[in-house]
Parts: sequence; C-alpha cells; structure tokens
Amino acid sequence: MDVVLESPTQDWSWNFRRKKLVFNGPFGSVFWRLPRDFKREHLHPDLLYVATEVLLSPWVKGILDGWVPTRKHGSLPGLSLSGGIDSTACMELMPKETVLVYHRRSFKSLLKHHGADRLFKYLQRTRGRRVHSIMSNHEKIRTFWEKPTGFSTDLAAATHLILFADYFDLRGIALGMPIDNTYLWHGYRYREFSETSWWRTWAPLLESIGLDLLLPIAGISEASAVHIVQKSGLGKIVSSCLRAKHPGCGRCWKCFHKNGMLGHPYDIDAREIQAFLGKRPVRTATHALWWVGEQNHWDQVPDLHHLKERDFSWWVKHHPQAFDLLPNWIRPSIQAAIEDATEPIPEDSEFYTWNLFPDAE
Ligand SMILES: [Zn+2]
Repeated sequence: MDVVLESPTQDWSWNFRRKKLVFNGPFGSVFWRLPRDFKREHLHPDLLYVATEVLLSPWVKGILDGWVPTRKHGSLPGLSLSGGIDSTACMELMPKETVLVYHRRSFKSLLKHHGADRLFKYLQRTRGRRVHSIMSNHEKIRTFWEKPTGFSTDLAAATHLILFADYFDLRGIALGMPIDNTYLWHGYRYREFSETSWWRTWAPLLESIGLDLLLPIAGISEASAVHIVQKSGLGKIVSSCLRAKHPGCGRCWKCFHKNGMLGHPYDIDAREIQAFLGKRPVRTATHALWWVGEQNHWDQVPDLHHLKERDFSWWVKHHPQAFDLLPNWIRPSIQAAIEDATEPIPEDSEFYTWNLFPDAE
C-alpha cells in the first residue's frame, strides 16, 4: 500500500491502491473507487487535507494546524449531482462544461439509486452529458461516533469533488443548497447567510485550495428549483423520493413537498407526512406551509391558521444578494438564468423579517 499523506500524529492516513483511495483513521477504514485513468499525481496533498477536515472535523480537532495550501485553481466548475431536484436545478443554471459527479453509496441501504440512474441515462441519451459516478462508503465514518450513516458535515456531500478536483481540473465546487438552508435559519427565520460561521468557515477554506464554493440556488427556494427543473423538461424524469422508483413512494416528506409539485400523487394521511406536518416548527417550514397554502391543506394544521395571512409570494422569487456569493468567473451566466426564471424579492418584502415560529427558540 502506498501512503500518500499521513497526519503528524498518525491518527489518520490516505493510501493509494490500484483501484481505490483508502482513508484510515480512528473510525477504521473507508474507500473511494478510482476512475480508470486516475493517477497518484492527481492527489494533491491540499485536497486530502481539506477532505480530512470535511470528514473528521466534528470529532478530530487541529487537522489543518501548520498546513500551508499551495494548490492553484483548475479551469472547470464541478457539481455534486445527487439526481434530486435541487442539484438538478443547479445543473440547469450552470454552464454546459460543468463536470457532473455523483456520490454512489457502495453499500445497500434504504436509499435507492434508480431515480438518479434514470436521470443520468436520460442526460446521456438526450444531451450527451456524462455523469461521473464515484463509489464510496465514507458515510460510514460517523457511525464510529454513534451517529447514523450519512455525511459527516454538509460539505462531505462534495468530498468526491474535493478529492478528485485535480483529476477533473476543477476551479469550483457547486452544491444544491436552496434558500431554505442558506438565508433561512432552520427553514423558517431570515438570517444574513454571508455572515454565518458556515459560510465564513467553508468558503475561504475551499478558496485557499483553488476551489470556489458555488451555491447556484442559494437565493431561490425549493419551489423555484422545482419550477426550473420543470421548465427544462426534466419534470417527468426527476424524482426526489429516495425510497421508491419514479414517480416515488407517495408517502414520504419529499413526495409531499417536492414530488407533489411535479404532479406526482401523494397520500396526505401517510404517517411520515402527518408526523412532519404535526411538528412545531413544521419540518422545512416555509416551503411546506407555502405548499399547504397552494394545495389548501390548512385543515391539516388547524393551529397554524394565523399563517394563512402571511405573504408567501416571495417564495417563488429570488434574493438578489445571493448573487454576491458567486465568484465573477461564473456569476453572470447563473445570475442571468435565475433572473430569467424568477422575479427579484421586493425590498419591502416580509422575507427580510421572516420568522414563522417566533416562539420556537
Ligand atoms: Zn417518497
């Protein structure tokens, strides 16, 4: 085994094998399957340092102590494409040369890949666009610290792009994070996203290794993301449900608030949908309640009738300040596409003081 990078205290290491990149640490060992023509030279140490931070920082401190980045930026934007609505909307807003990369769980789970595969086959057949698939089990890392299988941090959803940034010649990495997760705190209260520790931590760190953090849909909602996907003709191809084949199970939260917008049937009485509607604050509150209003489901949330009077119209408009998060090399095309699809949120909109559950904190 060929050790590429090891921590000075030897608590983690990166190893290059013929077909795999292996990451060892206190949690054990996880891997990424390498593309066929991948070479050891593609593994710049900066990429491995930042990937380590993204994967272990909740539990291991001081990973980046004494490290000085040297990587220069590549030339292309990359997108972490999950096959769901938000990242598909990003793809539609981003330039055609964007490298599309999918993280594929290497182990069996409740989460199904066929929705994503259906989209990827369609993109290949109709547009000649290739989606690179990187198989990994890195979502197992956090189980060592007794957390459920999943991403260690939000940025871990882009680990495959960070690790392979030199192989794909990347200059930036895009994530499908809508306004629900950026300018709204927990989906129901306005905040200035550019001042959050999230943005102030990750954006400069990625920039320091020649990778701009790109959030193409930071200023639009999940609802606008659905509209963009529909407008591009992918509404009948995409499904956000991870539990069943297209058009989805009809019984999960995603089927309620995302697939429902695409015209796919859902059962309002399904257990998960009822459970999330019954939570206070409501799960993904602004979007869910906007959709409750659109579908006139107010009878499902009798204690929230006072919210009927709130002006939700900004939900399908865009927040112009989000364009400032984009670097100049990619901003104009994304901004033009969003301005083409949606109106700006007016300056006197309720959005700037939005708080659906003031008693919740
Ligand atoms: Zn579903």
